[in-house]
Amino acid sequence: MSQHILVVGSLNMDLVVRTIRHPQIGETVIGHDFHTYPGGKGANQAVAVARLGCPVKMIGRVGADAFGQDLFSMITAEQVENRYVFRDEQTATGVAFVTVDDDGRNTIVVASGANAHLSAEDINAAEEAFIGASLLLLQLEVPLSAVERAIDLARQNGAQIVLNPAPAQLLESDLLEQVDFLIPNQIELALLAGQESTSASIDVLRSMGVEKLVVTLGESGVLVVDNDGQEHIPAHQVQVVDTTAAGDAFAGAFAVALKDGLSIKEAAEWGNAAGALAVTRPGAQPSLPTRKELLSFIEHRALN
Ligand code: ADP
Repeated sequence: MSQHILVVGSLNMDLVVRTIRHPQIGETVIGHDFHTYPGGKGANQAVAVARLGCPVKMIGRVGADAFGQDLFSMITAEQVENRYVFRDEQTATGVAFVTVDDDGRNTIVVASGANAHLSAEDINAAEEAFIGASLLLLQLEVPLSAVERAIDLARQNGAQIVLNPAPAQLLESDLLEQVDFLIPNQIELALLAGQESTSASIDVLRSMGVEKLVVTLGESGVLVVDNDGQEHIPAHQVQVVDTTAAGDAFAGAFAVALKDGLSIKEAAEWGNAAGALAVTRPGAQPSLPTRKELLSFIEHRALN
């Protein structure tokens, strides 16, 4: 029986400073305030799925330090099954240094720490988590060997595979062919395809075996591409506070909608609404909507 979504990915502590503007190279600016938030694309997407009421298991690695303990407790409190989040005795927990300016634009530097040690052996050790998974949700903040092994096991277990290829990295067509849905933003799309324009990039990726492609366009919404053609869904107009985790909110909601049996376009609409809600709030995981919030936002926007 297909029951849960499985997320393989990173867990980071986000160290966030808000500032009037981003510094130039070599410049110091005085920020307004500082917060720590649980983050990492893997953990964010797992929490996004859990908040939307879907059972979720996560495979990842943290360090045996205070940030690792905090992250472990936080995902547990969010009802993410944590049995396969391993503890690394030798390495620090991953951290992300985030700067957010007054327009809500961010820059992020990640020190991967324990995430960089997630291995194909770890994925094998968590093989049980693939049983009953209807969908595998992945990003690229953990080593490719772990991603590839997870894709193999998901295939063997009949799970759908959704890859958010972030941060941007070149991928072989052997891997791309295995992915059922690819969700890049515009930067990731251009790098994967080696093209500047969105339409040329889409053509290249389709020729590399990607049939279903959902390109997130930030404040311009989302482009859905499949064998029926292309469709643009505009973004919702919202008051932007912090764009951190917009893509993670999108990917989590997209995955839950697919698991619930909705079409690719409906799933992209869920993602579009979840991304819009996430940018109206500060932080990564705290900004992710609940199922109730998401459905009432979609209903409200449909009436207006
Ligand atoms: P990432 O965070 O991975 O770079 P995007 O910036 O493309 O991803 O954002 C993901 C999705 O979040 C977008 O496709 C859109 O649905 C939503 N979103 C992002 N920025 C905004 C915004 N300013 N207003 C409304 N929705 C937004």
